[in-house]
Amino acid sequence: MFDYEFPLNINDLLYRARDLFSRKEVVTRFPGGVHRYTYGDLYRRVCRLAHALDRLGLKKGERVGSFAWNTHRHLELYYALPCTERVLHTVNIRIPHEHIVHTVNKARDRFLFVDEDLVPIIERVKERLETVEGYVVMAPPGKRLQTSLSPLYYYEDLLEDQGEDYSFPEFIDERTPALMCFTSATTGLPKGVEYTHRGVVLHTLAISLPDAANMSERNTLLLVVPMFHVLCWGYPFACTMTGAKQVLPGPQPTPADLARLIQDEKVTHTAGVPTVWLALLEEIESGKYDLSSLKEVLVGGSAPPRSLMEAYESHGIPMVHAYGMTEAYPVVLVSRLKSYLMDLPPEEQYRFRVKQGLLMPLLRAKVVGESGREVAHDGRELGELWLRGPWIVKGYYREEEKTRETFGDGWYHTGDVVTIDQEGYIQIADRTKDLIKSGGEWISSVELENAIMAHPAVKEAVVIAARHPKWDERPLACVALKEGETPQGKKEEIREMLARRFPSWWLPDDVVFVDEIPKTSVGKFDKKALRREFGDHYVRAREG
Ligand code: ADP
Repeated sequence: MFDYEFPLNINDLLYRARDLFSRKEVVTRFPGGVHRYTYGDLYRRVCRLAHALDRLGLKKGERVGSFAWNTHRHLELYYALPCTERVLHTVNIRIPHEHIVHTVNKARDRFLFVDEDLVPIIERVKERLETVEGYVVMAPPGKRLQTSLSPLYYYEDLLEDQGEDYSFPEFIDERTPALMCFTSATTGLPKGVEYTHRGVVLHTLAISLPDAANMSERNTLLLVVPMFHVLCWGYPFACTMTGAKQVLPGPQPTPADLARLIQDEKVTHTAGVPTVWLALLEEIESGKYDLSSLKEVLVGGSAPPRSLMEAYESHGIPMVHAYGMTEAYPVVLVSRLKSYLMDLPPEEQYRFRVKQGLLMPLLRAKVVGESGREVAHDGRELGELWLRGPWIVKGYYREEEKTRETFGDGWYHTGDVVTIDQEGYIQIADRTKDLIKSGGEWISSVELENAIMAHPAVKEAVVIAARHPKWDERPLACVALKEGETPQGKKEEIREMLARRFPSWWLPDDVVFVDEIPKTSVGKFDKKALRREFGDHYVRAREG
């Protein structure tokens, strides 16, 4: 037994679904059709997988990586590893190859569970994976792949013939790591964070509250946020705990796939980044689908334009704005109107609703101005948002220096510059992190700049986050050429050079040539000045 209170374990979220909601469904879309099973089936398959993990020789505390879409198999990994005291590392499938290699090596993943269509990516990096002892392909039963991955296992084969019950540990120390993932660093390689049983359970309870994600057994959730991205914002846990039907969009979902799922599965709630909702809007407006079941859309990861919220609301679908990050499991703020603010005219209601929102229960926040003191709650004074609480991580995984920089005084310094108003609504005004957030995924401007500066004709280069009507932000390269060089053909050369190292979605859509990059008083590249001048480059291009 434990010498403190009863421990908080992810296992109990799963047991609740098994005991109370064994008839409720988990639905996954695959290109060939929909896969459907129940929480009862989920539990039995988690048990089989737990046996399979034992057979692979995985010990307590060891890590397994997943390289996968949102599917029922990924959900099984979400439970089988933590519930047997191992750790699931959800590898981001969209990051550059170099980052995949780094995150898998850093986490020391012993096995990688890979979706069948993602196998080619892992084949390209496998020589550099130092700790992986085997690959498990997730494909339909009986399907075989031509692949150079070795040793190779098939997920469905591993589960076959395994027992449908498993004796999970009776208690797990709640401080035990259960899952981990990585977040982009401003410079250098991604940084890892670990999520504990305790943190996951408390976060799950908190996001389930009516004023947060408003979870209920009666709801049907579409889990659009990738499961490799900050625990899919906690929904795989909150749905299972509450018994809500969950709908997983599977490999490469298109906006039309999402619309069809909402219609066919009668989805009531969903959550994701603004780019996804912008794309779905076209499907809604096409009138091809009956989306009348949809009651609410949670939007976060980037700030949604007010016009997007209004467009959804004109179709009778309220949008709720939320904010968080990898370091916070991720939910920190949710923007719902307090009852007495609902009497305000719509115009003034939006003033609050576009803000990132009110702090979740149990978290503590400070907004610290340049003077080092907390700012006034006047909605105007700017300061950096600092956080601490039961689901704010304490540091980066095996990164002492980066941990000291960001968590040194016991507070997590978010790097987000915000205001806080008299009602407590927090609004993001700026970001100190030198990163570009495009469609909910990060791009490192510093890495692109360094790569561009390696071009022989380039004197100086800066990559800024320029606003974009579809992707929220897109990289724009600002380049000063060496004496005697002309821009002729250089844009294409730069893009080709970058394409050899980075995924295509990292490439700057455009390159602007300037005589000189402006400098700050201490001689650094003045990105703010460039952002002022070129920040609307893509918006203007669209309008022009
Ligand atoms: P996620 O995108 O899943 O929330 P990340 O760790 O990738 O998590 O990104 C976190 C950062 O994204 C925050 O520090 C903030 O800069 C930005 N962000 C998250 N939510 C919002 C939002 N609603 N509005 C503006 N920026 C946001």
